[in-house]
Amino acid sequence: MKVTKALMPTLRDVPAEAEIVSHQLLVKAGFIRRNAAGIYSYLPLALRVLRKIETIVREEMDRSDAQELLLPIMQPAELWSESGRWDVYGDEMFRLKDRHNRDFCLGPTHEEIITDVVRGEVKSYKQLPMNLYQIQNKYRDERRPRFGLMRGREFIMKDAYSFDRDSAGLDDSYQTMFDTYVKIFDRMGLDYRPVEADSGAIGGDDTHEFMVLAENGEALIAYCSSCSYASNVEITEINDTAKEKLSEKPLLKVATPDKKTIEEVAAHLEVPQDNTLKTLVFDADGEKIVVVIRGDRILNEIKLKRLLKTDFLEKADEESIQNLFNCDPGYISPLGINEITVYADNEVKYMTDAVCGANEEGYHYLHANTDRDFGEMTFSDLREVVEGDLCPKCNEPLIFARGIEVGQVFKLGTKYSESLSAKYLDENGKEQIMVMGCYGIGVSRTMAACVEQNYDDRGIIWPKEIAPYQIVVIPVQTNDELQYTEAEKIYKELLAKGYEVMLDDRKERVGVKFNDADLIGYPLRITVGKKIADGIIEYKERNQSESEQIQPDELYDKIATFFKK
Ligand SMILES: [Zn+2]
Repeated sequence: MKVTKALMPTLRDVPAEAEIVSHQLLVKAGFIRRNAAGIYSYLPLALRVLRKIETIVREEMDRSDAQELLLPIMQPAELWSESGRWDVYGDEMFRLKDRHNRDFCLGPTHEEIITDVVRGEVKSYKQLPMNLYQIQNKYRDERRPRFGLMRGREFIMKDAYSFDRDSAGLDDSYQTMFDTYVKIFDRMGLDYRPVEADSGAIGGDDTHEFMVLAENGEALIAYCSSCSYASNVEITEINDTAKEKLSEKPLLKVATPDKKTIEEVAAHLEVPQDNTLKTLVFDADGEKIVVVIRGDRILNEIKLKRLLKTDFLEKADEESIQNLFNCDPGYISPLGINEITVYADNEVKYMTDAVCGANEEGYHYLHANTDRDFGEMTFSDLREVVEGDLCPKCNEPLIFARGIEVGQVFKLGTKYSESLSAKYLDENGKEQIMVMGCYGIGVSRTMAACVEQNYDDRGIIWPKEIAPYQIVVIPVQTNDELQYTEAEKIYKELLAKGYEVMLDDRKERVGVKFNDADLIGYPLRITVGKKIADGIIEYKERNQSESEQIQPDELYDKIATFFKK
């Protein structure tokens, strides 16, 4: 392709609404244009990247015996009513009506449709296991579409669904997809980690997220400095071990007038915050519960929801706490609490000589000793992990990193096969429910995540596996006959060898061409300038700062080596 013929509208400035690097660079380098909030056109450069990502996904999915199909974007409401999700999906679903006033939606996901297809066509255990996938647009009416392709309202996904005879079969299908995802993201040249993730309060089933590591990532992950453990910090397990007792001093009531927060109380009593106790009150499914954690810790509500097996959890308001404890919320503690269920973080179990509220306005206790002074408590891992906590697998320190979720593998179990009656006959002619898994990859999001991970102050640095073009050939002076002829000769030779090449044939200053080349992020740049008269051209890799002067006949071996390594 020649630049003069291409639609690649690079910009000097970035639109003000572009908040993150990938959004800024994809707009500036002429890859995407916004048509409405969260809705984008993919211009030719972007489409080439998307196609490469899709090709890698397809090849690896096909290799793992998954079959591609294509499901409708427009889905009838009946199926969603059958699964029970039409009424609960909420405002994120784009809904529409046909001319007969029948309800439809634009698919935010395809569990209902695929289960409908499979229940109609798969009847025997002999047809299982089966894994079906598609690559197409999904629709979610985000409240605040932002960050370019990261949180759009229309986006491209690969979604796969596995159907098995039983949960052992699902375990195998899940592992196969996990391994397939590793191959896919390895091939894309991305630095990523599969991490254990939250499967929801009721679930408890396995799920992993595939995170591309990037400074601006939305998600925080904890990974082990020594073994392969990694998890979303939302669920990172913490093993708190027994600590030695600090003292056996008796409880001592002290005045703490107007000192209600942990910071205020600790400062007033001159004790470290890690030797105070924080008592919280929640409304969980209509019942009040008390949660106790170390004063300097943060409660992890996802862990608490999982422990309580509820999706409904809310902080109790001041008034109801006041009524329950007969005391200002700033002075409450589990001391003498019998009628309310008390949950405590594992770490609290071993605390001695701690500060806690006196359940009396203006007073705290010193020297509280959990196992001596408090009533019945249910201990569990309830706090948020901090960097340096020990790995739950090997006890080495955990390190934090930010990531962008680009894929997820999830064990659905029988949630949809049960509500939609996807059944098969086993060897004995007995009806059984199919067991399902689902596996997503955000295709358009992967392109954005790749930019978040691979850029510098000049522009994008595409991994060569998914770059829109592999090489750009630049004649310094397009008007100079020798320079242009030689550049065009190299361009044609590279095309003939099967490379994806762009020839920058514009009559622009060479600085402009270099800037665009760096901005767009071609992995290789070949420059033909006036030294061509002495048989010298310039070779430069985008991710190296130095260029090399070489002879044209060295070029092809060098390029072959670059793309093979
Ligand atoms: Zn470890």
